[in-house]
Amino acid sequence: MSKSVGPTRKRDFHSANVAIIGLGRFGESLALELVAGGHQVLGVDYDEKIVQSMADRLTHVVSADTTDEETLKELGLADMDCAVVAIGADLEASILTASLLLQLGVKQVWAKANSAAHGKILKQLGVHHVIFPEFEMGRRVAHMVSGESLDYVHIDEDFVMVKSICPASFAGQSLAELKIRGTYGVTVVAFSHAGQPYQPAFPETVLNDGDLLVVAGRKKPLDSFVQLD
Ligand code: ATP
Repeated sequence: MSKSVGPTRKRDFHSANVAIIGLGRFGESLALELVAGGHQVLGVDYDEKIVQSMADRLTHVVSADTTDEETLKELGLADMDCAVVAIGADLEASILTASLLLQLGVKQVWAKANSAAHGKILKQLGVHHVIFPEFEMGRRVAHMVSGESLDYVHIDEDFVMVKSICPASFAGQSLAELKIRGTYGVTVVAFSHAGQPYQPAFPETVLNDGDLLVVAGRKKPLDSFVQLD
């Protein structure tokens, strides 16, 4: 999860108008996921080939250089609920685009940073949400590669949610009997038994050997919990 100034209340995001600027790998997957979620997505990229390849998959796709103020105005970006600058490698284009979007008064500007310095500049500009996809994915995958957990998501700096295998010693006991919260300081949120879909966990849920668990908690107790046998 990004360390950014998060919203204090849920926005009406049932059918938001979102502009994705830069349709590289990150921008493309972001745009497609938003479209799949029922949102109106305007994709902008100066590469004609990319624009053509996305033409049937987004609500609108335009080929334009977003470092030009007039272009952004013509595209109606000022009226967007949210704009995401998904340009990483071209630092100048990323910074100029983000700065113009802020100047136009776009309410929620998100931008991807490829380095700490890039992120610092974007934050100083006033970009509302700065994300570091490579850094965050690297941190997440580290816990999977080391075999500690099957997935590891930072909700905050010190609060994480992990997917891990149920310790064999827990088999046949309910969460209430195991006193998971009191003993280990973590909360079992959901479980999956024998490849079945995940279900919410309740105090009376009895765990089986090989169950998969979704567990939430502070980093330290959770890191110890996933090492239990
Ligand atoms: P990714 O890792 O997501 O593939 P990246 O971090 O390598 O992307 P870039 O290659 O800099 O980032 O940019 C992503 C996309 O943004 C590219 O498709 C590029 O054509 C587009 N782009 C870059 N500069 C501009 C600009 N000034 N106006 C519009 N599109 C741009």
